[in-house]
Amino acid sequence: MDIIRCASCDGYGWFDDEDGAPECDWCGGVGYVYRDANGADRRIPADDFEQVADRLEILERDRLRGLGYTGEAKRPWEQAVRKNSMRNEGQ
Ligand SMILES: [Zn+2]
Repeated sequence: MDIIRCASCDGYGWFDDEDGAPECDWCGGVGYVYRDANGADRRIPADDFEQVADRLEILERDRLRGLGYTGEAKRPWEQAVRKNSMRNEGQ
């Protein structure tokens, strides 16, 4: 399964608009979506974040570098992975 930049928000995960920054409902704020062999895109479920976090991070780093960013925004997958690792501590 390929992971591609969300076509709707172009990897941002949200939209700049007058009402604030609503989450992109195509990717759920992730900025990236799965693309299957048929070329159909679908949202990456939160349950998959831990598995795909490394790939998403690489994609995100490339995207930010392309934009000339040095700062990093916390993305849904990073929050989810952190939550999981905290929950796993002490087991
Ligand atoms: Zn999106």
